[in-house]
Amino acid sequence: MAGKATVHGSTDRAGRAQSTACHYGDRIDFMAMRRRDGAADFMVRVHGGVDMPASVVEQFEIACPTLKEHLCTSDIIDAGNPNAAPMSIPHFIEHVAIDLLVWAYRDQGLGFAGYTVWLDRKGQVARITLKSVEFEITERAFQLACQVVGEALQPLRH
Ligand SMILES: [Zn+2]
Repeated sequence: MAGKATVHGSTDRAGRAQSTACHYGDRIDFMAMRRRDGAADFMVRVHGGVDMPASVVEQFEIACPTLKEHLCTSDIIDAGNPNAAPMSIPHFIEHVAIDLLVWAYRDQGLGFAGYTVWLDRKGQVARITLKSVEFEITERAFQLACQVVGEALQPLRH
């Protein structure tokens, strides 16, 4: 892995993770929080541009064809519509994390949902909320999504 990943966490008295702050390469920071209703919130800050480059989205869709099958009511990329807004990095991470969760729970056949909202568009801070069965697994899926997206956004080095 080219990008440096650092993780800091806090736990409650039972030793369960309550929040985790992560830093991936020089593009993505996030903090994970367990919500009272069982869902998981992730505050994400993106450094540099916020839009997913179309070429990187294409790579993901080849490696992970189920991404194209997601239902999405937000600003998803629409290949047939040249006026469609490019998908933002936090929103793309949401979809990759959902794909990983579907894979993690494939034996149970569970479906997952999430949504992304900008908390501070100018400051490039978004909140992603994901349905969660087990917080640690949701958090791990989100970490992995940040890691692979962060890696894919690094300039290629030869
Ligand atoms: Zn979406």
